[in-house]
Amino acid sequence: MPAKTAKATGRPPAGRAVAGAGKAARRPGRTTAKRSLRKAEGTRPFTVFLDRDGVLNENPGLQVRRWKDFRFLPGVPEALARLKAAGARLVLVTNQPGTMMLLSTPGMIHRLHDRMQEDLDLHHARLDRIEASFTFLPTRRRKPRPGMLEDATATLAEEGFAVDRTRAVMVGDKVKDAEAGHRFGIPAILVATTHDATTLGAHALKRGVPVVAIVDGLPAAADTILRMMEGQR
Ligand SMILES: [Mg+2]
Repeated sequence: MPAKTAKATGRPPAGRAVAGAGKAARRPGRTTAKRSLRKAEGTRPFTVFLDRDGVLNENPGLQVRRWKDFRFLPGVPEALARLKAAGARLVLVTNQPGTMMLLSTPGMIHRLHDRMQEDLDLHHARLDRIEASFTFLPTRRRKPRPGMLEDATATLAEEGFAVDRTRAVMVGDKVKDAEAGHRFGIPAILVATTHDATTLGAHALKRGVPVVAIVDGLPAAADTILRMMEGQR
């Protein structure tokens, strides 16, 4: 079995906290089956909205529009798999204005996302919904406006999943991502991949956008989210 597939079980690497694992594991005499049942009973769904460039993949500064130019940041598929295993719905909300500058077409971006999903499938980390905005004009869907989050929420509702804004979080690498989350009514975590934490913190403060944490990447953001959701059980 390739290492990739083995990681897709949702089992955390040694030393990583995961929702529900710690307390039950320390109790003597409890069988594995009982622990699993307890964990399943305790799992309440939640929603993670994700920016793409700089969160899932390396952000080279130019629009990433072809699979050959797409590089997952370290630990990203595994972090998405851990979130899914803990009950997350994963929603991508990405501004892709390059299409308006004739750098790409929406079709190219959709094909890239289809290929990305195939790769994430190998990790049991498929995104549940992908929303993309293809303009740099200030439309309701372009972040920092929350239209893509609202539209994804409406689509998920049609599919039978109600997004609970008290159990949802936005993860981005720019303050406009956090602002979209804030306008939607959910907290935000920023990853310091494109800008350093000090710059992000100062920018968020200047814009009056609350941020619950600034971490170094999606794996650390996933740890924070799992702790947040665990605390709400
Ligand atoms: Mg970004």
